[in-house]
Amino acid sequence: MIGAGPVGLFAAYFAHLHGLNVAIFDALAEAGGQPAALYPSKIIQDIPVFNEIAAYDLTNRLINNLSDDCSLFLNHKVETITEKDSYYIIDDLLQSRGIIIATGAGAFKPKAFPLPVPETLQSKVNYFIKNPATFAGKNVAVLGGGDSALDLAIELSKVANVTLIHRRNEFRGLESNVEKVKTNPKIQLLTPYLPHSVSDKNGKFELSLKKVGTELIDQAEFDNLLVAYGFRANNRFVKKWGIQTSDGLIEVDRKMQTSKERIFAVGDCVTYAGRVPVIGIGFGEAQLAISNIMQSLFPEKKITIHSTSI
Ligand SMILES: Cc1cc2nc3c(=O)[nH]c(=O)nc-3n(C[C@H](O)[C@H](O)[C@H](O)COP(=O)(O)OP(=O)(O)OC[C@H]3O[C@@H](n4cnc5c(N)ncnc54)[C@H](O)[C@@H]3O)c2cc1C
Repeated sequence: MIGAGPVGLFAAYFAHLHGLNVAIFDALAEAGGQPAALYPSKIIQDIPVFNEIAAYDLTNRLINNLSDDCSLFLNHKVETITEKDSYYIIDDLLQSRGIIIATGAGAFKPKAFPLPVPETLQSKVNYFIKNPATFAGKNVAVLGGGDSALDLAIELSKVANVTLIHRRNEFRGLESNVEKVKTNPKIQLLTPYLPHSVSDKNGKFELSLKKVGTELIDQAEFDNLLVAYGFRANNRFVKKWGIQTSDGLIEVDRKMQTSKERIFAVGDCVTYAGRVPVIGIGFGEAQLAISNIMQSLFPEKKITIHSTSI
């Protein structure tokens, strides 16, 4: 399993349920992928069965579900996959009969704040919230208008005063979240505005904001900037493995198999018509991939489908 995000972790659990030996690699020091690294304290509302579950809780459950004999290689970015006879060799370290790629958005690379920031303030330009308490009582500008910006604004509004600055009047996100930011008294909306310049005013950000479509410049003061302009997907490295990609994502067939025999891919790293990047979809893809990997590894066997009979 390459990638220990939620989808890779669930796929590892499901593979073990089918009796497969599993090793998981992740480039980061901690397992859990985006929910663990980017939004651990967010309450997720669209995981099947749980009406509400904190991202860190979901991560812990997925990790605790791994079997004791599952090998977890953290701090290990997989670089090479070589084919030898009926095996694949991963980084000259491990030999495997099948591979599942679950590398999500690849290495997390948030889109950077595009303006020069005085050195004195650079440590206060944030891209993630690890612990909302560090923003308690602060005036924070959240920049962006998509799902991440809305999530971060809602999350932070529990402890801080938030100004959500977006270049359009409309937001791109879950309707319920759009409604929440519009009605939350702790969130001030500043639209359609774009940051124009930044200066240091006694250790705070003095942000000039240009009203889009006009020459009007306004000023506002903040303790922190939280930049939510999205992330760049980078799964370019899989091309080196001879796997077909499209726009940086991995092409799969209906069995979740890539262009290479016995290399499957699941979760946010894959593309097909109509896919949406949510965890629940990835969980379903993991079940498809494991069932089909079983079929290709053991063609003589009748594959058991239901967990109660595996
Ligand atoms: C702010 C925000 C809020 C979100 N809210 C929700 C929500 O409410 N509900 C929902 O369903 N989804 C939500 N999502 C989306 C959800 O987080 C993703 O769909 C999900 O994390 C995808 O899981 P994944 O396992 O495919 O990939 P990821 O979570 O991206 O994990 C991939 C893992 O692969 C590792 N990796 C990458 N390349 C390599 C390599 N070469 N070698 C080894 N390891 C590698 C990475 O380090 C990472 O740990 C949200 C996303 C964001 C950013």
